Amino acid sequence: MLLRFWRAFFLGLNVLPFPRSRYCCICKRDVLRFVPYRGGSMFMPPLARALKAVGSDVDHFECPHCGASDRDRHLVLYLRAAGLIARIPGARILHFAPEKHIAELISVHGPSLYIQADKFPTRAGIVELDLTRIAADDQSFDLVIANHVMEHVDDAKQSLAEIYRVLARGGFAILQTPFAPTLTRTFEDPGIQDRSARLHAYGQEDHVRMYGRDIAAVLASQGLVSRVKTHQELLPEIDAGRHGVNSSEPFLLFQKPIESQSHEPS
Ligand SMILES: [Zn+2]
Repeated sequence: MLLRFWRAFFLGLNVLPFPRSRYCCICKRDVLRFVPYRGGSMFMPPLARALKAVGSDVDHFECPHCGASDRDRHLVLYLRAAGLIARIPGARILHFAPEKHIAELISVHGPSLYIQADKFPTRAGIVELDLTRIAADDQSFDLVIANHVMEHVDDAKQSLAEIYRVLARGGFAILQTPFAPTLTRTFEDPGIQDRSARLHAYGQEDHVRMYGRDIAAVLASQGLVSRVKTHQELLPEIDAGRHGVNSSEPFLLFQKPIESQSHEPS
């Protein structure tokens, strides 16, 4: 009830005739205030807050006009800055848990194949696909997008091996995932099954791990090569506050090596 009131309050703020200092790069409209996620950072579970977990900008989350989240906005900015939008025409793309706004952006740029997939599809046009057993041939995609998915996947190692398998040589994987830079190692424990326990341990009821500062190495452990870049490296001109994105969230981009190599999965 409190969170619903909080959300309605922030949505209501945006109809007031005040100068708009923020901007949604997806609907291209000025915004007075982005709507916080679940009330914002002060409602984050204590451990995630104490670990300074980096993920969504929960204080500046939802666009009051188009509903895009901060991670949608950040991904669009990152895709442009990394030159990946230019690679979409004619490309074969597999998109897990596809966000509506990102899916629209990809579709208009003319990929030759665009599969939107989810383990539990929620709308028409999304096929049922398990990230740990991708029903696709080897090297059949040029780009795999799993934006805030890996933190939900039980068998991350198998999923990463599958992403590696279905990517063409030189293909890219976008694996945005929350992590805590204060943790020296990625943390998960199969004994933490209860939703409440997961909320407290990992920051959300349906997360199954908290990645640590070893995140790039962990995500690259099955053969992908890290091409991770920080906000500052890729988007030095972008004011994170104005755009409602988390400047601490790097672009978690990975690439399958172009040359065949003897790969020893860890
Ligand atoms: Zn918007």
